[in-house]
Amino acid sequence: MNNLPNKIEELIKVISSLPGIGPKSAERIALYILSMSDSKVQKLVETIQNTKKDVHLCPICFNLTDKEICDICANPARDHSVICVVEEVRDLFAIEKSGYYNGVYHVLHGSIDPMNHISPEDLKIKELVERVAKGNIKEVIIATNPNFNGDITALYIKKLLKPYRIKITRIATGLPKGTEIDFADSVTLSMAIKERKEI
Ligand SMILES: [Zn+2]
Repeated sequence: MNNLPNKIEELIKVISSLPGIGPKSAERIALYILSMSDSKVQKLVETIQNTKKDVHLCPICFNLTDKEICDICANPARDHSVICVVEEVRDLFAIEKSGYYNGVYHVLHGSIDPMNHISPEDLKIKELVERVAKGNIKEVIIATNPNFNGDITALYIKKLLKPYRIKITRIATGLPKGTEIDFADSVTLSMAIKERKEI
């Protein structure tokens, strides 16, 4: 970079390691932080630290929560017999924002990725099977991304859940191949769930 002091370059590097922030934005944010008052910077740091400390994974669905179990799992108005399986918490947020879905979730925290050596054991797949094995589940909707990793993850889960004789569906219709769930708009996402197909 343009002969900035090392400390500032370091800050820019850390900020640009965050998702969705390119070098130019990172530079702007770094310079903005440096222009902030000490108390505001402290508030920002404390908020990040406290959020990180208080937020953990829901032991049922692995969504993020600051309570014992997440608001969705704790909500009696949701349909607990339908589980929507997503790769990441941001996918859950996207589906929640679309407002159509009223079941519960299961967050895998990734997808099977042979290229990067991410295997089923690295994901919350075993926990999903345990949930289904407990009974009272009518349907599992697999909402992994419509790409290679998402598709092989869906097939793998389907194979594991087959013995439980529940309905297994896949959202795909309406989602163009390659569109990641968290980038799809609410209408497209609602349609993709509504028109899910049994697999
Ligand atoms: Zn939960």
